[in-house]
Amino acid sequence: MTNSRPQNIAILGSTGSIGTSSLEVIGNFPDDFRVTYLTVNTNIDDLLAQVRRFRPRGVVVLDRDAAAVCKQALNGTVEVLCGEEGLNEIVQREDVDTVISALVGFAGLQPTVTAIKAGKKIALANKETLVVAGEIVMGLAHTHGVELLPVDSEHSAIFQCLVGESADEIHKIILTASGGPFRTKTAEELRHVLVEHALNHPNWKMGSKITIDSASMMNKGLEVIEARWLFGVPATRIEVVVHPQSIIHSMVEFIDGSVKAQLGIPDMKIPIQYALTYPKRSPSDVGRVQFPSLHTMTFFEPDTKKFPALLLAYAALDAEGTMPATMNAANEIAVALFLQERIQFLRIPDVIAETMAHHTNTLHPLLDDIREADAWARRYATNLCT
Ligand code: MG
Repeated sequence: MTNSRPQNIAILGSTGSIGTSSLEVIGNFPDDFRVTYLTVNTNIDDLLAQVRRFRPRGVVVLDRDAAAVCKQALNGTVEVLCGEEGLNEIVQREDVDTVISALVGFAGLQPTVTAIKAGKKIALANKETLVVAGEIVMGLAHTHGVELLPVDSEHSAIFQCLVGESADEIHKIILTASGGPFRTKTAEELRHVLVEHALNHPNWKMGSKITIDSASMMNKGLEVIEARWLFGVPATRIEVVVHPQSIIHSMVEFIDGSVKAQLGIPDMKIPIQYALTYPKRSPSDVGRVQFPSLHTMTFFEPDTKKFPALLLAYAALDAEGTMPATMNAANEIAVALFLQERIQFLRIPDVIAETMAHHTNTLHPLLDDIREADAWARRYATNLCT
């Protein structure tokens, strides 16, 4: 791929799993992409190594103490901004064409919205942005003529299946799910799982929050909501199928009964690169599917008795308004408490369900209503567990 000038890229969350994979992809195309900004929460050590290699113009460190340390280390060679205001500032700058939105959770919403309003192309890895505010965010993208390119592997797959197709010819979207590390466990065994078991995903290497979401299948629930907004398909026509090999990354069934699928090995560098090079493709050094040694691909219906989080996501989507934001916030709290070994694994969906049951839903919310629902749900879910 060769453009007239390199695409300037800001990576929100550059030391996380998506951020580091993005830099690997970018590093393979020095003529096509230039990293202008990197942002982290607190991880200065990894950030400084990235700065030495990619020489961005500026960095944002969310944590103020870590920002001060970073400033001293860089000694004026690279601009250091801090806090959320730093994120909101850099995503609007002239020397940013594309924003890779890879923050974890609700924190990704505001800078992504700011970047859309500034007309930047968005490579979206932060699914929570669409979960909590899908209607608003898609509306803003439309108003500002912004392309939202999915980085989530399932949504990249669907996006790729839809190239050259028209939306009114989609019959249904089939989201594939690995089923996570607990797919074959009994309900009784699930009562006793430990954090280390939940963090041991069979196919994908990811950050801890999304790995726990995969174990509870809430990740698939979040992805159903994400797909509803990205592709404008109602939840009744989004089906989840468990496919433990994670070779088919998702499928689209059309009105004539034809099904298109996108396949590949489970490596996030594929969807990241496609989001950056779209509508073109470029060579890649990722592994290839070896069909003869694959032997079988299997498919199952999700077990929503064992993994009720998936149903909670459908219920939140059905309720609309601030319910998806409430569900998401309760999940973020429950996952954090599980990671701190303060609640058991099976308590996660209970906390979400109880928080949703007590939420007063606001239909057609503004961003402020969504922020308020998020804050309320965090308090409520925390109180449930203390
Ligand atoms: Mg995914």
